[in-house]
Amino acid sequence: MKYAIALGSNLGDSRSILESALSRLEPVIARSSWYQTKAVTLPNSPPQPDYLNGCAIVETDLQPLELLAKLQQIEAEFGRIRYQRWDARTLDLDILLVDDVIFQTETLEIPHPRMSDRAFVLVPLAEIAPDWKHPKLHCSIVQLLRSIDASDVKKL
Ligand code: ATP
Ligand code: CA
Ligand code: CA
Repeated sequence: MKYAIALGSNLGDSRSILESALSRLEPVIARSSWYQTKAVTLPNSPPQPDYLNGCAIVETDLQPLELLAKLQQIEAEFGRIRYQRWDARTLDLDILLVDDVIFQTETLEIPHPRMSDRAFVLVPLAEIAPDWKHPKLHCSIVQLLRSIDASDVKKL
């Protein structure tokens, strides 16, 4: 199966953390550049450092829940402590897409439910998979990207 994965970090040495995380996901078919993006924070929460974000395409026989477990294990290896959703973190690995499949359980939803309004996801993904069709929205990644403001996402 072919998966699109989003990588993000805004604590520690983000670039080397993301590079090491990527190497743990081999074989990687395609990888994007790294992008500097503004952190999304909850209302009334303190400001956070900018993120480094990117995307990768990975080919694996792992089932979605097996891959999620592997991603969470890699996050744990890099010292991510889960305080609360959207907190600053050393490493965040999300599954964006798997083939043209819709997958939904209590703990995992693919396509990632918030990918279509996130410039920090769509910009790197459009670099490596512009024509991948979102199986729920029935349009491509570049088409999704055209409908949002991506001016805050800076290629490094
Ligand atoms: P967001 O989901 O908005 O990007 P987040 O990445 O900060 O927020 P986490 O705290 O990392 O959220 O994850 C919360 C839970 O989301 C995970 O424990 C996982 O079970 C669930 N989850 C659901 N769908 C996905 C997905 N496609 N990829 C990764 N985790 C997912
Ligand atoms: Ca995330
Ligand atoms: Ca996550």
